[in-house]
Amino acid sequence: MPQKCTHLDQIKDVEPKTPQGCEECLESGDSWVHLRLCLECGHVGCCDSSKNKHATKHFHATQHPIMQSFQPGEDWRWCYVDEIEVCRMLIALPEPPTAIVAGDAASAFQAIEGLGNLGKRVPEDMSVVGFDDCPAAANFPGLTTVRQPAEEVGQLAGQFVSRLLEGAPASECRVTLPVELIIRASTASPRSE
Ligand SMILES: [Zn+2]
Ligand SMILES: [Zn+2]
Ligand SMILES: [Zn+2]
Repeated sequence: MPQKCTHLDQIKDVEPKTPQGCEECLESGDSWVHLRLCLECGHVGCCDSSKNKHATKHFHATQHPIMQSFQPGEDWRWCYVDEIEVCRMLIALPEPPTAIVAGDAASAFQAIEGLGNLGKRVPEDMSVVGFDDCPAAANFPGLTTVRQPAEEVGQLAGQFVSRLLEGAPASECRVTLPVELIIRASTASPRSE
């Protein structure tokens, strides 16, 4: 996403108010898919893949712009205001794209959230592709992504280091490994009309 977020000064050192789950869903006895933490007030709400979308509702009610994933092992953040702006810009183009390819999974999830806030559906209205098949990408509803052979990269890097130490020329320690496209639910054929 191109521009720089101007809302970072609104981030506070928050304690999750309801670390056990979405505040509103816990009250009503509903379930959720993923959790988001508001970095301005500590509200914990459910994501846009959840039935109630309480994190987004929290943004609309409070204008608190910055959320962080509250899933174990995930720390990506996004700014509702900026994401909505970028997505609005894309949609307003004379020939709007039919797909967004994001540089990593976090940006891809941000794009999905931003599009959702503008009433656009992924993948019906816009496909989204991520890069790096991080564990979060496999989560519901599933991000189409480019998987890199991380294990092979590590092994070869180790071998190359020892060969370099043995005096092999650097040009012999260079290889391009194939990547793999993992197709999940965030992409579809462009609509024909
Ligand atoms: Zn921002
Ligand atoms: Zn909820
Ligand atoms: Zn908040």
